[in-house]
Amino acid sequence: MHLTNELALSMPLNLGASKSGIATKETVSGHVTTDLDHVLPGARSAIIFCVPFDQALIEPYLSKKDLSLSAHKIRMTTLTFGISFEMATVLTSLGHKAYPVSSNFGFRTDTPNGIFDRMPPASLKLMARACGIGHIGQSGLLITKEHGAAFSLGGVITDAELEPTCPLPEDENYCDRCGICGRSCVADHINQGAVTVRLGNGTVRAGNCRAAGRCAYPCGGITGLHRSGEWSTWSPGRFPLPEKDEEYPKASKRYVQRYIERKRDGAICYNPLLAYPFEMQYTCSNCQFVCHPDRDVRKRRYELLRNSGVIIEDENGIKHAVHPDEADGFISKMPPERRRLYVDEDQ
Ligand code: SF4
Ligand code: SF4
Repeated sequence: MHLTNELALSMPLNLGASKSGIATKETVSGHVTTDLDHVLPGARSAIIFCVPFDQALIEPYLSKKDLSLSAHKIRMTTLTFGISFEMATVLTSLGHKAYPVSSNFGFRTDTPNGIFDRMPPASLKLMARACGIGHIGQSGLLITKEHGAAFSLGGVITDAELEPTCPLPEDENYCDRCGICGRSCVADHINQGAVTVRLGNGTVRAGNCRAAGRCAYPCGGITGLHRSGEWSTWSPGRFPLPEKDEEYPKASKRYVQRYIERKRDGAICYNPLLAYPFEMQYTCSNCQFVCHPDRDVRKRRYELLRNSGVIIEDENGIKHAVHPDEADGFISKMPPERRRLYVDEDQ
């Protein structure tokens, strides 16, 4: 039995996705991370979909009232990968070749710095752009008018011959380069300016983000205090934020063991870029969660983040948002062997 377009598009929706599309080898050609043959020799197409996060959890998260969105993002991402795996299993049983694409933490190992180059085997973002799921914003993330950037992407690459779905017109991209995602990033990862990416017969505009290592350091939770000292991510880390791109991987390496030694309360996922046992909680994702089609909502979310205080962590790993002065007092009273988990007093 052959896979039809109708079945390929409805499977992810019935399994929990909100939107699906089909890219083909031709519609995604032109970029190193969209070479379908690289992951599946003989591949012809990719079925791509998104699973939205609960919008009601975003403002409590950004205002540091409730960390539930971190666990929710972990669970929804695992569900997304599960949908890809289930679809690939069915397709294989039908006689097709199928490769489920990782929804997070899947990295190529054949680049100069291996997984630390953070290059995906196949870019779900570009494939999703090509098949009409959304646009690419200044943040470098896929954005949709339905969910902003708050969703997880999944996909299955297959040798099935399918018809591609159409990309969305670029003039429907709601990103107006407001810069709010950039101001929400403690690591200054998001630049103004843009790059042009070739995709199939055309090109798409994408944000011009700085080196991936800038994001990995706070995004993984190692540190989180903004340079102003006035607000932070959900990370209690207060390690230095270097100026230069090349200093970021060194900073991650220097402090990752201290991050691992902290207790973590709540859901975790596994990030191979960290150190054994690779446990991680999402403490940032600010660029993802501030973005919304309505600019007033973006502004409100940014103000909530900006006035959310800074995070301290008690001995059980439970995080509390407090005024910056209170955080300074809390940290200074810690015994040195505990304080070193959050602060580098030699810097
Ligand atoms: S926050 Fe603003 S600049 Fe950033 S991706 Fe969203 S709309 Fe674009
Ligand atoms: S996840 Fe956080 S650190 Fe990474 S780019 Fe987004 S805002 Fe910056």
